[in-house]
Amino acid sequence: MSKVRSVLIVGGGVAGPVTALALRKAGIDATVYEAYPSAADGIGGTLAIAPNGQAALDVVGALAAATAGALPITKTAMSFGRKSVELPRLAGLPPMRLVHRSELYRGLYEVAVAAGVRFEHGKRLIGLDEGAGGVTARFADGGTATADVVVGADGVHSTVRGLIDPDAPGPGYTGMLGFEAVVDRPVPIETGTMCFAFGKRAYYLYWQRPDGRTGFGANLPQDRPMRLTQARAVPAERWLRRLRETYGQDEPGGDLVRHIEPDRLTVTGSLHIMPSVPRWYRGNVVLVGDAVHAPSNSSGQGASLAIESAIELARCLRDLPDTASAFAAYERLRRPRVEGIAARAAKINHMKAPGTVARAVLPVLMRLLMKTAMRPEKAFGAEQRYRIDWSAPVVTGAKTLSVGG
Ligand SMILES: Cc1cc2nc3c(=O)[nH]c(=O)nc-3n(C[C@H](O)[C@H](O)[C@H](O)COP(=O)(O)OP(=O)(O)OC[C@H]3O[C@@H](n4cnc5c(N)ncnc54)[C@H](O)[C@@H]3O)c2cc1C
Repeated sequence: MSKVRSVLIVGGGVAGPVTALALRKAGIDATVYEAYPSAADGIGGTLAIAPNGQAALDVVGALAAATAGALPITKTAMSFGRKSVELPRLAGLPPMRLVHRSELYRGLYEVAVAAGVRFEHGKRLIGLDEGAGGVTARFADGGTATADVVVGADGVHSTVRGLIDPDAPGPGYTGMLGFEAVVDRPVPIETGTMCFAFGKRAYYLYWQRPDGRTGFGANLPQDRPMRLTQARAVPAERWLRRLRETYGQDEPGGDLVRHIEPDRLTVTGSLHIMPSVPRWYRGNVVLVGDAVHAPSNSSGQGASLAIESAIELARCLRDLPDTASAFAAYERLRRPRVEGIAARAAKINHMKAPGTVARAVLPVLMRLLMKTAMRPEKAFGAEQRYRIDWSAPVVTGAKTLSVGG
């Protein structure tokens, strides 16, 4: 049984509210400090919640609220040029759900508030001081707050990560910039079908919406990363020109990009992947979610893994007597899984925006990718069937404390 009574969580995105909910379920008081002034910033496109992420949300009673309005993806297909192949599904699992990032944030926020979690908005963390009385967080507005434990759930550009270890690596850039749009054009696929398309020059995806319009997402090759504010400052017409140059020859990509209205184009930002982070915790400060394991959007697992880690961290703090043993167990439980998934996503990234060398071997890589996707149990079974047994006690030294992965 833990001696931890109070936890201060930095970041009110996905991992932050879920950690708070799980800690409350474990009888530990948690407060979330979020840099932005409101609950949902409206930034970002759609996120996938995989079956494992849905099961994890269910553990904290947030599944319905977090996925209200989500689109179930009942079929997936992969296409190369004009060739398109339907991918087999994993038997017995619910479909992946597509949810708008800001709706997911809002749903989690509302469930957490209803469960008694306190949120402080407009609180940007800038420093941490650890002493005998706990860890004191310092915020940009001059305020401070103290708790037994601080959790850094502050995303891929985490401040807490650098405070734990000044030599911690930053996020790696995948060489792609994300875009999304809803297009008033039909595509010849059923509602709820998602198609992953490897175009002539770059990767894109599209899905049929229930309203008859088409959801479109692009991973545009871009030499240097851009801050979201920088990318958004570029006029939409200019981005549309780039998208039309890149996808204009593709089918149905060319038709879709020619019909995107400038005011319907959303830049979702530079796509990142976190390299292995050597230190997940120090003293009474620990990381969770994208701050420690952003697997890149190619995995379709970013939000789902953040949710799982949040719950596993709370379980460890619930069951183990001190933070040293709780954080060690948490890292042991999570590191192999999240790093394995990130490694798979990194391989796909090379195919999405191939350089000259990769382009030469692309047909071989594509055949490999297709072969993998056609054996979903082998490729994604462990990833998507992973379940957290909330009632099972965490014990130190145990190799696997959860089922499925
Ligand atoms: C701008 C943006 C757009 C994205 N768009 C997509 C997308 O379209 N599709 C997709 O699949 N994934 C997207 N992602 C990734 C996805 O949102 C994450 O994988 C997922 O939300 C992981 O949750 P998290 O809680 O770890 O991090 P996040 O959801 O990023 O949450 C981190 C939170 O911490 C807050 N924060 C950061 N620094 C501080 C600080 N110093 N003090 C206090 N609070 C702080 C942030 O404001 C944010 O609310 C996007 C991420 C970002 C940042």
